[in-house]
Amino acid sequence: MNPIDILQNTFGYDAFRGNQAAIIDKVVQGEDVLVLMPTGGGKSLCFQIPAMVRAGTAIVVSPLIALMKDQVDALAQLGVRASYLNSTLDGAMQRFVEQQLLNGELDLLYVAPERVMTPNFASLLRQTQVALFAIDEAHCVSQWGHDFRPEYIQLGSLVEQFPDVPRIALTATADAMTRSEMVEKLRLEQANQYISSFDRPNIAYNIVSKNNAKKQLLDFYTEHHQGDAGIVYCLSRKSVEQTALWLEQRGINALPYHAGLPTEVRQRHQERFLKEESIVMVATVAFGMGIDKPDVRFVAHMDLPKSLEGYYQETGRAGRDSMPSNAFMVYGLGDAVQLRRMVAESTAPEAIKRIENHKIDALLGLCETVQCRRQTILEYFGEAYRGTDRKDAESVNCGNCDNCINPPETWDGTVAAQKMLSCIVRTGQRFGAGHVIDVLQGKDNPRIFNMNHHELSTYGIGKELNDAEWRAVVRQLVAGGYLSTEAGSFGALKLTGKSAVLLKGKEEIEFRKEVKAVRQKFDKKSQARPKMELEDDEAALFEAFRATRLELAREQEVPPYIVFHDSTLKEMATRKPRSLAEMSKVPGVGKAKLERYGELFLEVILEHFPPEKAVSKLMDDESVVVLDNDVNWQETVGDKVEHLHTVDQTRYWLFEGLKPQEVADKRELSIGTIYSHCVELIQLGDITVSEATGLRDDEIELIETSYKSLTDEDKGRLKPLFLVLDKRYSYELIRCVLAGLES
Ligand code: ADP
Ligand code: ZN
Repeated sequence: MNPIDILQNTFGYDAFRGNQAAIIDKVVQGEDVLVLMPTGGGKSLCFQIPAMVRAGTAIVVSPLIALMKDQVDALAQLGVRASYLNSTLDGAMQRFVEQQLLNGELDLLYVAPERVMTPNFASLLRQTQVALFAIDEAHCVSQWGHDFRPEYIQLGSLVEQFPDVPRIALTATADAMTRSEMVEKLRLEQANQYISSFDRPNIAYNIVSKNNAKKQLLDFYTEHHQGDAGIVYCLSRKSVEQTALWLEQRGINALPYHAGLPTEVRQRHQERFLKEESIVMVATVAFGMGIDKPDVRFVAHMDLPKSLEGYYQETGRAGRDSMPSNAFMVYGLGDAVQLRRMVAESTAPEAIKRIENHKIDALLGLCETVQCRRQTILEYFGEAYRGTDRKDAESVNCGNCDNCINPPETWDGTVAAQKMLSCIVRTGQRFGAGHVIDVLQGKDNPRIFNMNHHELSTYGIGKELNDAEWRAVVRQLVAGGYLSTEAGSFGALKLTGKSAVLLKGKEEIEFRKEVKAVRQKFDKKSQARPKMELEDDEAALFEAFRATRLELAREQEVPPYIVFHDSTLKEMATRKPRSLAEMSKVPGVGKAKLERYGELFLEVILEHFPPEKAVSKLMDDESVVVLDNDVNWQETVGDKVEHLHTVDQTRYWLFEGLKPQEVADKRELSIGTIYSHCVELIQLGDITVSEATGLRDDEIELIETSYKSLTDEDKGRLKPLFLVLDKRYSYELIRCVLAGLES
């Protein structure tokens, strides 16, 4: 089989995405490849398909033991021969898998990095044919990254031990430093590099200023994500627990997850998150690495992540299935202060502190920017982003972030900043934002009078702005590095080296206009709404599909998305296939899943769109085919349906691997009839000419070129071609080839 056939038949997708085809081609040819692709970009296929094309077993090295079983289960659902070896298997089971490997019964074997380099495993590998090595999460080789795995470094010696086996290393980590480390440590100097855009166009970015974080989260959830799966990130264990409880009390299926919980609780919660449909996981950063769930519809940040890398990685867990998803973050003064202080207080060497500060600048910059969030993120990773909707050369518009959809207004904040800075100086740089703002606004509270702050020249000079607006000024000054807060001084604001230029009027400053302190509403029309855009009755069908899927998943003890992804169910709900043939065209429905689940889901469609409805539709749409288990319906629509249905059966048997003659025998029909079905199926694009005819590619080509050399008149009939080809190919075979040529 060639890669595209495998993609279509086994995985049920129409076409390769981005660099997939090129990458697969190189690996199939035995070359080394380094793949940088964002989460959800489709990395798995890049090694899974070559694993099936090349002789022998592909060894997939992955640090994520918890994921191996899911991946193998998912492959099993597609009819792919895969297994895994890791410490969760008992001795007998391990020996069984090793035997499978030795018997050449596996296309893919997933193993943990620490096992690959053991003498035992190496000797096993020498007794088998290794198709390729896939090194997943290859950034784990980087000593600077937070996912560093020492065993990964040893993987570099694979090149000496197995010089003829191609290696493909994959990661979703974008930065150049990690990339060069991967090349060096994994010895990929000769590898072809494929670097995809790191844009995640299906993720809508929203960053709003914090006023009541929990309430803002709840509003966001109820407005956009009822019943969806999502992740809520909090900074501390305590806030994880409080937030989870708070959501739960409001009837939301929320679970806490942090490193302080007992292992079995964590495992149970993670399991539930994977296996149930609509869990909201409230977690610290401890949660996420290796979460492969494709249908996480939103990621919300209640506190700032540590860096832009962290933000990108965490939000990236949304929407792996490419369906619209939201990244939502609330951000306030406290967050900015805290981040700045963390670096100031750290005992790290100055060089490291400088890097850290730079990272914080970038993150706070993202929060405060009035430009496209997507552009800001991608440029940080060194990628130029030009937007999808360029109105002029200057402005980039991605159409899917808050700043692009509702461009924020700015105002000249120079005077306000000067007032703020001088009031901080006058009050002795000993107070936090609350008191300084009170002085600026000329409040008459006891604290002010006790300290005689009502006698300061800055008392009452800032009545033009309200509390929230002044806090935004402070926040933006902290974010911009014009103010700092020191350790042990309870959030007291102090001037920095940068402040002087502002105070002296040598620099102007623009602020983002605060959205009035009510809940931020998304623009309903243009804002990405993660709810799939389905008609009401289709939405009901989609829900029914989900229920069926859940049942199937429970029976097999696998996560629901292993049965079908949301994106597949959504397509199914809009297309409403009426036959297995039509069902097979839905993206994500490959041959194995068609056989396993096709009928069941057709029944669900039938229940929701019963025959009467469908028949009237059928009258308009001739291509609609009927199900065999509804006799009434068949009788109503008559012969045409009967006919199409029989084609369907032929298709089924061909897919089972029978030859046309065998199908004819089995169905007690003439071979001519079966070939006429083949012609239709080829025209539909359901089967290829070679599948139908068993002809070699060169034979097909011969027939095609002979046909093309005929005069127009001769092209209209079959006989001339038959004769040109010395009567070697039957009329039926010729018809099939011509059908292929047409389509
Ligand atoms: P990654 O490992 O890069 O995060 P995956 O390999 O899990 O991404 O793929 C992400 C999703 O995209 C999966 O649901 C996968 O089935 C789907 N996918 C991958 N390649 C294609 C393709 N060529 N056409 C359609 N869907 C695809
Ligand atoms: Zn944008």
